[in-house]
Amino acid sequence: MREFANLDEESAENIRKSGALSVDQADKMIENVIGVMETPLGIATNFTINGKDYLIPMAIEEPSVIAAASNAAKMARDKGGFSASATKPIMIGQIQLICDDPHGARTSILGARKKILELANEQNPTLVKLGGGARDLEVRIIETPSGKMVIVHLLVDCRDAMGANTVNTMCERVSPLIEQLTSGRVYLRIVSNLAVKRLARAKAVFSKEALGGEDAVDAIIQAYSFAAADPYRCATHNKGIMNGITAVALATGNDTRAIEAGAHSYASFSGRYKPLTTYEKNEDGDLVGTIELPIAAGLVGGATKVHPVAIANLKILGVKTASELAEVMASVGLAQNLAALRALATEGIQRGHMSLHAKNIAVMAGATGDMVDKIASALVREGRIRLDRAKELLEEEEK
Ligand code: NAD
Repeated sequence: MREFANLDEESAENIRKSGALSVDQADKMIENVIGVMETPLGIATNFTINGKDYLIPMAIEEPSVIAAASNAAKMARDKGGFSASATKPIMIGQIQLICDDPHGARTSILGARKKILELANEQNPTLVKLGGGARDLEVRIIETPSGKMVIVHLLVDCRDAMGANTVNTMCERVSPLIEQLTSGRVYLRIVSNLAVKRLARAKAVFSKEALGGEDAVDAIIQAYSFAAADPYRCATHNKGIMNGITAVALATGNDTRAIEAGAHSYASFSGRYKPLTTYEKNEDGDLVGTIELPIAAGLVGGATKVHPVAIANLKILGVKTASELAEVMASVGLAQNLAALRALATEGIQRGHMSLHAKNIAVMAGATGDMVDKIASALVREGRIRLDRAKELLEEEEK
């Protein structure tokens, strides 16, 4: 590696150094390991969800996100915090079948529902013992560029697992039976990340006083309407939601890509890309925010029980089930979105964001210790948050 990339000693050492997750452990998790990439870990505060207080670990490299979530959670507290719920943790496994008589095949598969579910459940007695397992079948016939296809959906209650491996294994297990029943041929057997049967929802009321008056409430609703009508804005609106959700997913060792894929595909489920949140004004003139999205997050499986920091973070969070984790994540997503909309619709996000960004610029310029804050403050004061200026200021200080 060093030869290929002409790496200097310091860079090589930075890759070699590891924190709580050792290089040996990492080497067992993925392939071609050379080190461990660290991400800042912070705690979002002020969250009350379903009457319980949480401290929420978030792993993220972007400034302002944790401060914004904590700030919105504080505003929500006045009116009781967040109320959240989740559906059962049901994932969809897809089996792609190609055959001559799709309607005939569909009927045969549905007719053998019991046998197929039993076979799937034989694959994972642990999950069945925990109260989960394959629950139902759906069979769709879809038009594709290659003609009609029969798509079997195996619905699996994954309990506290994210469930991808569990579901994939079950789909593979039942496929020979499906081929036998239909004289067709099975191709793909894989979980769907559009987890529409594993939804998390949260709601919070933000008083007009906490938001800065009636004008702020109206401006936030206007900002939401903009996202609801325009996909260019909506992408950024939903990205802000995922700032929070992905950070909690990463901190807890969950598959961030699976949750992101689920969120954005769910946002497009109606055929048009929509915001994952809604905002309305209630009869008191306060703002009512809601969120709904699929969250396939687990307390077992993936890195959740392997990464030592994820294990510690789950202890801090204190959630008892994967559904409770999904409720927390949905609440964080709503808080994150409200904070961003409020800032954007009132003072603009740059003021708060740039003062944190200035600290990064100061570090990039080479500042350490107390000098970071000193240089960052000077950059903000001057309104010139730029690397060249940070270097100049640092040189002046060091003279
Ligand atoms: P896993 O393979 O570790 O399976 C979890 C297993 O743990 C269950 O099958 C069950 O037998 C057991 N278990 C013990 N206690 C349990 C409890 N309380 N609740 C539920 N199960 C319990 O993990 P998984 O969740 O099946 O798979 C997740 C992994 O799959 C992630 O690493 C993800 O990145 C990866 N993956 C994702 C995709 C995708 O999203 N498209 C595809 C393939 C793999």
